[in-house]
Amino acid sequence: MVTRLNWLLQKGLNDMTAANDSKTRCSWANGELYIEYHDKEWGVPVHDDRHLFEMLILEGAQAGLSWITILKKRDNYRRAFDNFDARKIARYDARKVQKLLADPGIVRNKLKVNAAVQNAKAFLAVQKEFGSFDKYIWQFVGGQPIVNSWKKGQTPARTKESDAMSKDLLKRGFKFVGSTICYAFMQAVGMVNDHAVDCFLHKKF
Ligand SMILES: [Zn+2]
Repeated sequence: MVTRLNWLLQKGLNDMTAANDSKTRCSWANGELYIEYHDKEWGVPVHDDRHLFEMLILEGAQAGLSWITILKKRDNYRRAFDNFDARKIARYDARKVQKLLADPGIVRNKLKVNAAVQNAKAFLAVQKEFGSFDKYIWQFVGGQPIVNSWKKGQTPARTKESDAMSKDLLKRGFKFVGSTICYAFMQAVGMVNDHAVDCFLHKKF
């Protein structure tokens, strides 16, 4: 009875980590944290404004660093940045920015922290103009995910859609929104499906 219970517990743990299965994934999905992010989040269409804002800030924070660095700090980011409530972040003053720059749980880069505050302001302006950020941002792919069929290693760093998105965001005062950052954002929030053709998630969305 005890052995059976242990077996079930172990099986449950294996299912949760998904690290020991035989599924074929995008080549970058290595290690427990990346696998969980790849399987549950990357490429799943997002239409929730708070979630979209979180990804925009995190992708900007990633510039020059690896995504795993940001994933590891994600809970710290949520804590430090009021769970990405743009209304709160838009009101951050110089004292709050100094406090953030002393927080080892996040990327302590002055330009990036100031960009988050500026982006919160620009984000609120977009919500006001379009009704939601969701409505605004999805227009860059015509409202529907673009399903690509890249083989491993063929995925581009930017496209004409990410160029257009970047150009418009910059015009609206957003920071850290170059075309490659925008493309990473589009992949993350499912505006494009860039799962490799042999990845088990390629056909899912
Ligand atoms: Zn994949």
